[in-house]
Amino acid sequence: MLVVMKPQATPEEIQAVCDRIKALGFRAHPMPGAERTAVGITGNSGAVEQGGLGDLPGVAEVIRVTKPYKLVSRDVKQEDTIITFPGTNASIGGRNLAVIAGPCSIESRDQAFATAEQVARAGVQFFRGGAYKPRTSPYAFQGMGEDGLKIMAEIRDTFGLRIVTEALDNESLDLVAEYADVIQIGARNMQNFSLLKRAGRTRKPVLVKRGMSATLDELLMAAEYVMSEGNYQVILCERGVRTFADHTRNTLDLSIVPAVQRASHLPIIVDPSHGTGKRNMVLPLARAGVAVGANGLMVEVHHDPDKAISDGAQTIFPEQFNELMQEVTQIAAAVHRSVPRGITVAEPTTAGRG
Ligand code: PEP
Ligand code: MN
Repeated sequence: MLVVMKPQATPEEIQAVCDRIKALGFRAHPMPGAERTAVGITGNSGAVEQGGLGDLPGVAEVIRVTKPYKLVSRDVKQEDTIITFPGTNASIGGRNLAVIAGPCSIESRDQAFATAEQVARAGVQFFRGGAYKPRTSPYAFQGMGEDGLKIMAEIRDTFGLRIVTEALDNESLDLVAEYADVIQIGARNMQNFSLLKRAGRTRKPVLVKRGMSATLDELLMAAEYVMSEGNYQVILCERGVRTFADHTRNTLDLSIVPAVQRASHLPIIVDPSHGTGKRNMVLPLARAGVAVGANGLMVEVHHDPDKAISDGAQTIFPEQFNELMQEVTQIAAAVHRSVPRGITVAEPTTAGRG
């Protein structure tokens, strides 16, 4: 159920609708749009008794949402969601192309800084790196843990780059949320419902990677889990799915980009690194991801990829990344997007201090 407010509805009228929804025992999710605010209702397993909602001042109409996903849907919010990063010019969603680059794993301070310097120079706004790694083998490098998070926080302080890093489990999520600017939920965790809910209770943007056998609806429902907890800052990521093809690690399913954009207001980015598993395919598929209309890219870059501890085969050299940035900037223009050059960070405010 969705309560659509009139364009001229006042904040008090919207609040009164939320209060009535709560009094009925449900959860209210006000979603402001350019034209009007809609208030999503969750917590109901069947149809909501209208409870007089339609008669409250400022209400235009009460409509039933028949799709399984509600808050992610364009029915609830028509305009694209744009996630901003306070104090910076960085954003994800809308017309700017967000580029997230960095190594698969944080391996050491030197490695992370060497790579961060290169991608910062290439003009990105977001640095990625795993401190907690989902590895197929329990004997493989599992990540540096909190030490890795601390290195990324130092990288943010040094280069201004916003940090994207994975929360692998409920145990590490709160710690990751403290350090990260964007919490990544990996493909293997896309249906870890308790982790999604927990990420939904933080107030950090959450990047949900598509599970390797997940359908469009399953991906959208994973985002719905996060949003149902009141965190509306969700980014989706296509990173390839398992198919019979064996010339790549995964099959990058670019057709999901327009499918997501039709169904949802959430941004969707493309990861050509995991999506191909091959260094020589990252650039062509990054180009294609931008051409198909993605809101951003996530790319694995290492200052010395042949020595990378994880995912070296799909990790590109800084020079290749420079080329990628130049080419996608041109392609972005053809599909009415632009690639911001670098991040600007406002001076830290001294307001509130002695
Ligand atoms: C990663 O981004 O390094 C990662 C492990 O990705 P995925 O969850 O898509 O495999
Ligand atoms: Mn990786």
